[in-house]
Amino acid sequence: MKILVLNCGSSSLKYQLIDMSNENVLAKGLCERIGIDGSNMKHSPAGKDDYKVETPMPSHKDAVKLVLDALVDGSHGVIANIGEINACGHRVVHGGEDFAQSVVICDKVKKALETCSQLAPLHNPANIIGIEACEAQLPNVPQIAVFDTSFHQTMPEKAYLYALPYEYYEKHKIRKYGFHGTSHRYVSQEAAKLLGKPIESLKLVSCHLGNGASVCAIDGGKSVDTSMGLTPLEGLAMGTRCGDLDPAVLTFIMDKEGLSAQAVVDVFNKKSGVLGVSGVSSDFRDVESAAAGGNARAQAALDLYYYRVAKYVGEYAAAMNGVDAIIFTAGLGENSKDARAKICGYLSYLGVEVDSAKNDVRGKAADFSADGAKVRALTIPTNEELVIARDTKELLDK
Ligand code: ADP
Repeated sequence: MKILVLNCGSSSLKYQLIDMSNENVLAKGLCERIGIDGSNMKHSPAGKDDYKVETPMPSHKDAVKLVLDALVDGSHGVIANIGEINACGHRVVHGGEDFAQSVVICDKVKKALETCSQLAPLHNPANIIGIEACEAQLPNVPQIAVFDTSFHQTMPEKAYLYALPYEYYEKHKIRKYGFHGTSHRYVSQEAAKLLGKPIESLKLVSCHLGNGASVCAIDGGKSVDTSMGLTPLEGLAMGTRCGDLDPAVLTFIMDKEGLSAQAVVDVFNKKSGVLGVSGVSSDFRDVESAAAGGNARAQAALDLYYYRVAKYVGEYAAAMNGVDAIIFTAGLGENSKDARAKICGYLSYLGVEVDSAKNDVRGKAADFSADGAKVRALTIPTNEELVIARDTKELLDK
């Protein structure tokens, strides 16, 4: 069975074609600047040279067509014809309260997805456009939606309710939803394997530290709390997002800077976080090297970032009344030994102890705790595409 995994943004489309007989990636790639000047595609077939092309892609439908053409191309293709694609698995950002699991997409599901768009106006519409583009190009192929939010639907009410008038939850579904669910689910399952223990017996705190970042408390394999909220803006400081903030800061900035509410929320989303504090970049590599070169604001941004991750880990250890292992994943969590060491440095009171030699690892799963440490510290590469493909296969097998 071959599954095409798609992740559509407003002007981008990332894809992987996965052979589920061995879970090998046959090809992966990215279309960028869809609907804008300079649309381009990078297609990386396994065992062959990359293929790059700049060509107009007025819509996602054109991008999907280009991807399908690349997959069957005589020189850089990996399958003989598109009939070999058994299903498409789509990353959908927001499933609201309607979707606690992945689903086969039908008209009813699409209507529900449109309703969820109110909760994720920046993300869901692009996801729906991607689904419709695939339906148009692959009319008889099942389309499956896998949600960033669904893993967190197990959170108890005390974790997901905001302390706002309850009617807002009833009328508008304003509550914490959480994101990065496919990543937290995957790395927690891999952590259980690495520790050689059933996931049902483990209390885990998973730290997904990429451009977007979130922490998740996973008790017995179920998400019981997570740092992102109604939208991905809540929680940790991120590459460009501010994370937790006194809500009154909104009107204060509006007043002082003469900005509209939406303009300030844009600042919160795009100009804050590590970028905003450092003034250097949203990319941790740039910020780490600026800090190493003596840039005080870059150092302040990193210090604030690590401190906040550590505080969330402590909070979630309290929420679960214990923790067996802390997982670091995504760009920073998988690659930066400094970030892992600094965050773990705050957590010795819990029983976290780092072995520096074992922590000198990047891009592969490892337990980097000192021998005998009470709480294990793990780094595990995430693989959201594989989770989407596995869910898609499971739904097809049913
Ligand atoms: P996303 O999927 O959210 O776009 P990733 O998980 O790919 O993000 O993470 C991207 C971020 O990871 C980059 O912005 C960068 O800050 C960080 N990163 C990647 N590699 C390294 C590294 N070697 N050292 C430090 N940070 C890194």
